Amino acid sequence: MDPTQRQLERSIGNGRLFLARGDLTRFPAEALVNAANSALAGGGGVDGALHRAGGPRIMAECRELIARIGRLEPGAAVATTAGTLPARYLIHTVGPVYRDGTRGEPAVLASAYRSSLGVAEELGLGSVAFPSISTGVYGYPLEAAAEVALPVLLQYLAENGRSVRRVGLVLFSDDAFDCYERVLRRLEASVEARAGD
Ligand code: ADP
Repeated sequence: MDPTQRQLERSIGNGRLFLARGDLTRFPAEALVNAANSALAGGGGVDGALHRAGGPRIMAECRELIARIGRLEPGAAVATTAGTLPARYLIHTVGPVYRDGTRGEPAVLASAYRSSLGVAEELGLGSVAFPSISTGVYGYPLEAAAEVALPVLLQYLAENGRSVRRVGLVLFSDDAFDCYERVLRRLEASVEARAGD
């Protein structure tokens, strides 16, 4: 799959927000984000794909990290090197398992995006590409997840003095891309409506 097919970009502050339809494991960015589990044990979905594409060194680093920290709490993030992925770092974060949306899921999801950006910031990185965290096995409804993820990324880019100037999501299906694009347009329209008040 061509990772650059279907791409949308927006200038926000001094930075750029992108949405791309493609395979995160082939997307060039200084950091790729992994939708991991608390044990950093690998698994299916994007996690398994990133480990397969990046090689065994990533899992070796994950084991060392877990030996040190025990587990990675939902909403937190840590970095390893990226092995043979087209990135310098892989940032592992844990999204919420979705139950009914009233168990703090939006706050934990927002924290997963925000913590990952914080780790990228500490590493002085300029670009970060995310998957749609929690919307696979963890069951978060896609549109509700986009309504949490996009405002976090937009707000981050609008803040001054940030190292990450290029940030966005690589969506694995046309449906996911369409959904994120729709939510982005809706957020932009509501900002414009407020500016016009
Ligand atoms: P979670 O456990 O956080 O739900 P999953 O990996 O099951 O994580 O799914 C998260 C999202 O990642 C889903 O929307 C899924 O379609 C998507 N995904 C799976 N493989 C890839 C990939 N190679 N590149 C980008 N996104 C992917």
